[in-house]
Amino acid sequence: MQVSEMAGNPSSLHTAGRSVRQAVEEARESIAADLRTRPSAVIFTSGGTESDNLAVKGLFWQRRDRLGQPARVLASSIEHHAVLDPVSWLGTHEGASIEWLGVDAQGRVSPDEIEDLLRAGDVALCTVMWANNEVGTIEPVGRIAELCREAGVPFHTDAVQAVGQIPVNLSEIAAHAVTISSHKIGGPFGVGALILDPALTLTPIMHGGGQERDIRSGTFDAPAIAAFAVALHHAVTGQADHAAHVRELRDQLVAAVLAAVPGTVLNGASLNGASRLPGNAHFSFPGCEGDALLMLLDAAGIDCSTGSACTAGIPEPSHVLLAMGVDEPTARASLRFSLGRATTSADIDAVVRALPSAVNRAARAGKLTARTRS
Ligand code: PLP
Repeated sequence: MQVSEMAGNPSSLHTAGRSVRQAVEEARESIAADLRTRPSAVIFTSGGTESDNLAVKGLFWQRRDRLGQPARVLASSIEHHAVLDPVSWLGTHEGASIEWLGVDAQGRVSPDEIEDLLRAGDVALCTVMWANNEVGTIEPVGRIAELCREAGVPFHTDAVQAVGQIPVNLSEIAAHAVTISSHKIGGPFGVGALILDPALTLTPIMHGGGQERDIRSGTFDAPAIAAFAVALHHAVTGQADHAAHVRELRDQLVAAVLAAVPGTVLNGASLNGASRLPGNAHFSFPGCEGDALLMLLDAAGIDCSTGSACTAGIPEPSHVLLAMGVDEPTARASLRFSLGRATTSADIDAVVRALPSAVNRAARAGKLTARTRS
């Protein structure tokens, strides 16, 4: 069915509605097949932020009612704000006791620490992202999922950055709830899904028509859902080729930047191992103001990011780098380059050409700011 023909409400019983409903169900089946899970696990949402909120709050409420107070939430300290903020909110508004999991210098949580914390028997929920959106570190989610299953504790993972970059096979990773988002894989904005173990339920955050197993309400955005399924299929079937393409360019970029700008620090896990997203390059340029550098590169036609894109407007150093033990001035001097399908060798050359003079100018701006602050 063409997107332009999707005129009926998929929850209506008339023919037009039923045919749109069929398109939604086909998309659900396609997404489930690509992620190696069951169609009944797929709950469509408005994107990664809603899926994270639904999982974190919904699972907490569901479990707290069974555990009684006080209930604990284990969350990594390097989560995206779509997880970080609902977890903090549960602490301030719902009496949750929050255990922020530390990370090592590469940004990895420790499964041993989680195993110890699970022993107390008062954990309502554990949430650790599959791959970090700033430094690209891939977390040991398979092991954490096993530990949580053994302890009978729901485990949520935000896989927004992982899908399409690395294999995401939910028949191998036993997470109870997995967040995915369409626009990160080339699909439309404003649609995503929570993959929720069908054996589990959670308390909804929105009430209404109960379209998705009474867990999520709201009329389906059928055209967006259909396009999301197509994008996901391309992302999953093309993942290996995509990873090889961006990894080669990323390694080229890292080598050239380290050579062109002495003193540059590469943040995150090593390039060779299996612990880093293939399209991620994240640097600190000590002495520079990251925001100044970003603007100078922007003027040269280069898009990059300080902190996560979602918090770039806020002049706070990245919570991810601080959690990794990076000091505040160095954290402020950091930039992320994300490589995608359209990135070419010529783009890498353009960055390497523009960077040395931008770093010099940003370092001068950094000195001025430091003088104003002192
Ligand atoms: N989680 C991670 C790791 C992300 O990188 C993002 C967006 O950048 C989100 C969640 C939010 O997803 P959405 O933009 O679909 O709400």
